[in-house]
Amino acid sequence: MSLDPTLLDVLACPCPKHAPVTEVADGLQCTACEAVFSVRDGIPVMLLDQATPGPSGVVGVADPS
Ligand SMILES: [Zn+2]
Repeated sequence: MSLDPTLLDVLACPCPKHAPVTEVADGLQCTACEAVFSVRDGIPVMLLDQATPGPSGVVGVADPS
């Protein structure tokens, strides 16, 4: 899988931290919550309810701050 680097630059995880994402084998991974978003037909699916939760097992938990 290969995405346009400029696209990666503008994409952000929809989690409360709106962190940048990085390309991983399975798709795009948030650098904060570590959720992995799949890429379908070259288009990242940036939806938390369709993401694979990171090691913490929690996606999109509201940041109390
Ligand atoms: Zn995130």
